[in-house]
Amino acid sequence: MGFRLGNVSGRAVLVAADGDGVERWFDLERATDGRLPADPMAAVARAADLHEVSAGLDPGDTDGRFDEALDAGIVGPPVPRPTNCFGVGLNYRAHAAETGREPPSVPIVFAKFPSCLVGPRADVELRAEQADWEVELVVVIGAGGRDIPAERAWEHVAGLTGGQDISDRALQFAASPPHFDLGKSRDTYGPTGPVLVSVDSFADPDDIGLTCDVNGERRQDDRTANLIFDVPALVAHLSAVLTLRPGDLIFTGTPSGVGAATGRFLTAGDEITSTLEGIGTLVNRCTA
Ligand code: ZN
Repeated sequence: MGFRLGNVSGRAVLVAADGDGVERWFDLERATDGRLPADPMAAVARAADLHEVSAGLDPGDTDGRFDEALDAGIVGPPVPRPTNCFGVGLNYRAHAAETGREPPSVPIVFAKFPSCLVGPRADVELRAEQADWEVELVVVIGAGGRDIPAERAWEHVAGLTGGQDISDRALQFAASPPHFDLGKSRDTYGPTGPVLVSVDSFADPDDIGLTCDVNGERRQDDRTANLIFDVPALVAHLSAVLTLRPGDLIFTGTPSGVGAATGRFLTAGDEITSTLEGIGTLVNRCTA
């Protein structure tokens, strides 16, 4: 049985649906009488235990339960402090085309500095004019390692979550040659969540639908089956260079429909709604 791992007020929680499909959020440490850790960064390395505990959760049990945690707006990023957080550029053909570039023959990897990470309901604090939306599937490493072959890559993934790779286009291309890291890493420019979902929860983890709406208008709509470099290829590519660690994040790239393609950017008051099949929805409001 799969698990759904979240973060409420900095504590790891497991999510279980009751008979009516209402999600109940359980404090991991309390639900296991201290056997499993409260720290989300420690919890993400315990995938086998999370499967077991999740299978035994009783949604009717009110001990250690956070009710309506999502509505309370206290849900943080499922993986708040990864050692490394990678982004991948131009990883869908239609997105490469809308930017006027050829599809890459080698993954275009940049850093999203972990300090930019916020939760699924957090405000995005705009600090410049050319802020853009990018809905993405985000891979969370469970069992780290180096030189992981593609055919074993999924064994090293704790689960999948959603993300917005909010991008300051002016900053991204300010230097010559361009250097993406800072333009992708302003404070609050990395909403993730709402939860981390174990790989076995998906009928096909290589084919997940994802959409992005801005103020209710559909801007992006694609499936991860159309990734140029799929999840196993990215894990193999990165782990050939450095040791992946539990909790490391890989933003896998965004579909076509970004604002830069049409010159429309985010402004204060905009609401970004990002939905990933089998994972859930992030709603992020832009503030000045
Ligand atoms: Zn991106």
